[in-house]
Amino acid sequence: MSRRGILYVIAGPSGSGKGTLVKKLMQRVPNLFYSVSATTRLKRPNEKEGIDYYFISEKEFGDFVETEQFLEWAPLYGYRYGTLKKTVLNKLEAGVDVILEIDVQGARQVKQNLDEKAVFIFILPPDISELERRLTLRNTETEADLRKRLDIAADEMRAADEFDYKIINKDIEAAVDQLVGIINIYRN
Ligand code: 5GP
Repeated sequence: MSRRGILYVIAGPSGSGKGTLVKKLMQRVPNLFYSVSATTRLKRPNEKEGIDYYFISEKEFGDFVETEQFLEWAPLYGYRYGTLKKTVLNKLEAGVDVILEIDVQGARQVKQNLDEKAVFIFILPPDISELERRLTLRNTETEADLRKRLDIAADEMRAADEFDYKIINKDIEAAVDQLVGIINIYRN
C-alpha cells in the first residue's frame, strides 16, 4: 500500500518567529507542502496573494465556514484565518507531507476533527520580553493591535504542554535543525 502523507501542525504565539522558521524549513526539506491559509485580514505590502495567504472577504470566509470547507479556522485579532480542508486532505492522500502554520485554537481543532494522527509542534520565544521586542521590531501593527497580540501570546504560551514537541526559538538555525529532526523521525 502506498504511504499516506504526514500532517505536521506548527503553532506558537505571534512573534515566536515561527513564520521565519517554517520558511527556512521549507527550503531545507524536500517534498513538504506548505498549506496556504485563507484570511480576512488585509495584505501587508511584502505579502503575495496565494503565497502568504489567500486574502478573502468576510463574506467569502463565511461561505467557506458554512459549506464546511475548513479543516479548522479561528478568529484572531479581529480577523479570521482558516485552513482549506480539501487541499490538505488531497495532499495527504497523495502521500505528500503537509505543514500547517496556525494558531493554538486551530491546532486544537485539527486534533479534534482529524481522524488520523498528526504531529503537533509548539514554537516558544525565549521569553515574553523577547516576544515584545520582535513584535515591535516588525512594526507592522498599530499600538492597539500589538497589545492584543501580546495578550494573546501570553495566553498561548500556556498551551505549550498540549503539544507533542516544543522548540525554544532562541537561535534560529538551531531551532530549524530541531524542526528538521522532528520531521525526519516520522519520515524514516
Ligand atoms: P499573521 O496575521 O501575523 O500573518 O498571523 C497571525 C496568526 O494567525 C499567526 O499566529 C498564524 O499562525 C495564525 N494563522 C495563520 N493562518 C492560520 C490558519 O489557517 N488557521 C489558524 N487557526 N491560524 C492561522
